[in-house]
Amino acid sequence: MDSVRLKKGKEKAVRQLHPWVFSGAIDQVKGKPENGDIIMVTDSNNDFLAYGFFNDKSRVAVRLLEWNLETEINESWWRNKIRNAVKLRTDLHSEKTNTYRLIFSEADYLPGLIVDRYADFLSVQILTSGVERIKPVLLDELQNLFKPKGIFDRSDASARAHEGMEASSGGVLLGTEPPEFVSVRENGIFYQVNIAEGQKSGFYCDQRDNRKWVAEYAKGKKVLDCFSYSGGFSLNAMRQEASEVISVDSSALALDTLKKNIEINEFHHIPHRLVQSDVNKQLRVFREENEKFDIIILDPPKYAPSRSAITKASRAYKDLNRMAMLLLNDGGLLATFSCSGAVDISMFKQIIAWAALDAGKNVQFIQQFSQPADHPVRSSFPEGEYLKGLLCRVS
Ligand code: SAH
Repeated sequence: MDSVRLKKGKEKAVRQLHPWVFSGAIDQVKGKPENGDIIMVTDSNNDFLAYGFFNDKSRVAVRLLEWNLETEINESWWRNKIRNAVKLRTDLHSEKTNTYRLIFSEADYLPGLIVDRYADFLSVQILTSGVERIKPVLLDELQNLFKPKGIFDRSDASARAHEGMEASSGGVLLGTEPPEFVSVRENGIFYQVNIAEGQKSGFYCDQRDNRKWVAEYAKGKKVLDCFSYSGGFSLNAMRQEASEVISVDSSALALDTLKKNIEINEFHHIPHRLVQSDVNKQLRVFREENEKFDIIILDPPKYAPSRSAITKASRAYKDLNRMAMLLLNDGGLLATFSCSGAVDISMFKQIIAWAALDAGKNVQFIQQFSQPADHPVRSSFPEGEYLKGLLCRVS
């Protein structure tokens, strides 16, 4: 087996079970491994540390899979890892919920593999050349476990490009093509999901718990859901009988889907407005028109894709939150989220504190949000923690 030897001192993270070896940590590559090959990683004394797959086109040159010298990474190893990930989600499946993440990459010890379930359909993202190689085993195991109507490829092209991989051709990998809209349930609410063209892999199932918790405050309240997408927060607020719900998103497809979702859940008796606009502009329009709200949800896209973007992202988060604070009735609630892994919860609290100062408001943090059980954070891989949110009382 080919191997890479690490520079002295670079073995520490590997010993602590962190799954990444950066190219800069490598002293020598022994043999001629091809991208996706399983190789051995050794310390500077050539002693075994771990096995992983190699990729010299990626900043992460080795993704570690196994720390036990005796264990062979073969087909049954992969099948076991897949089954283990799926087992963690068994309790999530219920009468009320049939959409969730089945496999979450490094967090499930399967670097570069993401699988989401949408009722009888599965959507797969293959983001490393190592996982690309086991595609037939993966599809076979998923077929055995779920007998899905279809498995669809939604591999993100830019994530693949970072790994030096070509964009995948996409489309159906197994079974039948999904209909334009697949109907799924989450906490008893129905959603239409466009698996082929919706954002991310069609639905943001990472906000499942948070949508429910925020909505617990919504009864009789006027709720503004910013960056609503297909209405996760809006629909939960409607179910709790908010007095009015206003949803803002820049995407026409998102709002069309939200409209359908309101119909299929029979929530049309709740007064609602769908506004297709840039949130930053729309918040200023509300301010000019002196319109106020009792609850505002801010769930923007990732502002900081990497550490280098933190300064710019902090400014954007601060401005967005400042504007929202100015639109709340006294004692109103701001549920504010960040899905940027580079911005951690303490930094996010600091940003909100700055926004409060600038807005001339008092803020009390009354609840903290993170990611749900199907998006676990592996203790040796803190990078996997990306979603955070704060419920703030603003006066
Ligand atoms: N809250 C949603 C998920 C939000 S994802 C849910 O619960 O499902 C982020 C959303 O922000 C996407 O729908 C995207 O279309 C929208 N978006 C991105 N930039 C925007 C902007 N500047 N103004 C308005 N919407 C924006």
